[in-house]
Amino acid sequence: MPLYEFRCRICGNTFEELVRNSADEAGAACPVCGDKDVQRLLSASALGFVSAAGAGGSAGGSSSGGCGGGHGGFT
Ligand SMILES: [Zn+2]
Repeated sequence: MPLYEFRCRICGNTFEELVRNSADEAGAACPVCGDKDVQRLLSASALGFVSAAGAGGSAGGSSSGGCGGGHGGFT
């Protein structure tokens, strides 16, 4: 059975819902606030595939490190 991930537009909660047909998808409601104003997300595996394929840009490069230097804070 396909397991889809949804995100509530109201409270931002994400949850998973078994969806067998369009009626199930339409009936998906947020378990936190109970609202049906939810958005179906791509599955985690699909997202992993996309990032593995290389969306480009975000990985590596200019990270202005915050924890790199020796900050001797004590006096
Ligand atoms: Zn909600």
